[in-house]
Amino acid sequence: MKIMSINCGSSSLKFKLFEMPEEKVITEGQFERIGFKEMGTYKIKFNGEKTESSLLLPDHSVAADHLLKDLIDKKIISSLDEIKGVGHRIVQGGKYFKESCIVNEWSKARIEELIDLAPLHNKAHLIGINAFEKALPNVKQVVVFDTAFHQGMEEEAFMYAIPYYWYSEYGIRKYGAHGTSHQFVANEYARLTNQDIKKLKIITCHIGNGASLCAVEYGRCKDTSMGLTPLEGVPMGTRTGNIDPTVVSYICQKENKDAYTVVQELNKKSGYLGVSEISNDARDLEEAYKKGNEKAILALHIQEKRIADYIASYYVYLNGCDAMVFTAGIGENSDTMRSRVCARLKVLGVEIDEKLNLDRGHPFRISTPNSKIDVWVIPTNEELVIARDTLRIINE
Ligand code: ADP
Repeated sequence: MKIMSINCGSSSLKFKLFEMPEEKVITEGQFERIGFKEMGTYKIKFNGEKTESSLLLPDHSVAADHLLKDLIDKKIISSLDEIKGVGHRIVQGGKYFKESCIVNEWSKARIEELIDLAPLHNKAHLIGINAFEKALPNVKQVVVFDTAFHQGMEEEAFMYAIPYYWYSEYGIRKYGAHGTSHQFVANEYARLTNQDIKKLKIITCHIGNGASLCAVEYGRCKDTSMGLTPLEGVPMGTRTGNIDPTVVSYICQKENKDAYTVVQELNKKSGYLGVSEISNDARDLEEAYKKGNEKAILALHIQEKRIADYIASYYVYLNGCDAMVFTAGIGENSDTMRSRVCARLKVLGVEIDEKLNLDRGHPFRISTPNSKIDVWVIPTNEELVIARDTLRIINE
């Protein structure tokens, strides 16, 4: 059975078509520059061959229609009836969604209601859902939420110390993000080491362009570093992570800007990019680091210190920790980042084998037999979780 996994951003649409339950990727690719006046791009990989083309993409519907037509033209499928389900990644599920669910009027209305909390993302997701409903009217669609896993947090972890009615009236609280990834790699760790997730305390570190950590207790999220929005937590490619909110009013005053503009700068012009003044890309910073560029070194060290701070605080909150897992673009690929973070965790008994740490491309252990915490690198696979959940839910 073929299941399509879809991730719609404000100007992009990423897709992966799976043969399920075999979990085999049939084809994958993406559309970029949707909604622009100029040409957009369409990339698709099939049978090891990559093709790229330019086309006008006024909206997500055009992309969805083009994709479905191309699947037939390229003989990847012989008829649209072969696609039995479409699963969509949704960034913000608020308090409503503790797990994935079928797309219906109720779920669409809730996703729309939550646009305030994730303006760019939830709006794009809805456009994507509508585009596929139009293109494949008889196919069931499922929504999979980045926030669902984090709904396991207790009040003391998700509440901010704010006037209570901000929470009760406006829903201001920590929702977290990357939940699908944290849940996936925690479960993968248990599976790969033949242990019961219900007996494990794991700290998962999803370090990509966006970065978050999660304290996973017995398979449930106990705490996570992202907050109301993905701005909270550790510094990232272009985001500050935690910061004293007074900085916002101070910069507003100094530069005669409004709060919205300054918060945009905390989201888009800070983190690696802001401190290094070089790039938001970890690879560029590592290059500059090797050449001794002081700002690049500082940008990476600020992030690594904060990652270690979170790990230490989760170690305490979990009352010990069996394993740590690194994942996402930087977590999976940057041996130098892992090595420097783990060096800061010696006091917790973390010891890694620098040779093992050089591996990549599959799940592997990097800790030594003496290490008090088992440290692994496990590639994340959010699209697969979406396909799995979609298959399960359309069969229910
Ligand atoms: P997101 O999904 O949040 O956009 P990713 O998880 O794809 O981000 O991670 C992107 C980051 O991964 C970039 O900063 C990129 O430089 C980094 N990355 C990819 N490969 C490597 C590598 N070999 N060494 C260091 N960083 C890498």
